[in-house]
Amino acid sequence: MAQAGGLPQANTTSGQTYVKKLVLLGNSSVGKTSLVLRYMRENFRSILPTVGCAFFTKVMDLGSSSLKLEIWDTAGQEKYHSVCHLYFRGANAALLVYDITRKDSFHKAQQWLEELEKEFQPGEVVVMLVGNKTDLGEEREVTFQEGKEFAESKNLLFMETSAKLNYQVSEVFNTVAQELLQRAGEEGNSSSQEGEAVVLNQGPAVRRGQCCAR
Ligand code: GDP
Repeated sequence: MAQAGGLPQANTTSGQTYVKKLVLLGNSSVGKTSLVLRYMRENFRSILPTVGCAFFTKVMDLGSSSLKLEIWDTAGQEKYHSVCHLYFRGANAALLVYDITRKDSFHKAQQWLEELEKEFQPGEVVVMLVGNKTDLGEEREVTFQEGKEFAESKNLLFMETSAKLNYQVSEVFNTVAQELLQRAGEEGNSSSQEGEAVVLNQGPAVRRGQCCAR
C-alpha cells in the first residue's frame, strides 16, 4: 500500500482512460456521504438509495490519462456492523473514514481495515485513512498524530478533512486517483482482470458495479 502522506506522480501511458472502483467504509455518521456529495457536487450522476448503496461516477482528468472513478457509498449498511461481500468485490481503493471527535469511530476504522485485509492481499487495494470534521477541532478526540502514526504503521495514505468546510476533500480523491494511476502504469495498461484497470475501447465491455441488493 502507499506511504502515508505521499503524493505520487502518475506514470501511465498517454491518452488512456482507466476505470476504478472506490468504496467508502466507516462508522455511521462520520461523514462518508457528505464527503462524496461535497466532492461530486457538480458532477453527480446517480444515487440508488433504495438498494443499500449509493453509486456515483466521476471522470477525472489527470494529465495525460483519465480515470473514471466509481464511488460506492454504503448508504447506511454499516449500521448493521457489516457491509455485504459484494460491496468489496472488485474494489481498487477504499476510504476508511472516521470522525476526529469520536474515538470509537477511529477504532471502528481500524476494524474496517481488518475486514479489508480479509478480502484482499497486502497492497492490492489503495487505502486512505480519512479523519473528517476538522472544523470541530475543539471537540477533537483523535489527534492528527494518532491518525498519521496508525496510517504509517499500516502503510496507508492519510488525510484529515472537513466536508462541511470543503477542506481537503478533492485532495483526498485526487491523491487516491494519482496512486491508482501510478499503480496502473506499473502493472501494465491493458488488463481486464477482476479488480484491475479496464482500458476503454481496447478490451471487453467496461465492467459495471453490481449493487449489494442484487
Ligand atoms: P455517514 O453516515 O458517514 O454517511 O455520514 P453523513 O455524511 O450522513 O454525515 C453525518 C452527519 O455529520 C451529518 O449531520 C453531516 O451534516 C455531519 N457532517 C459530515 N461531515 C461533516 C464535517 O466535516 N463537519 C461537521 N461539523 N459535520 C459534518
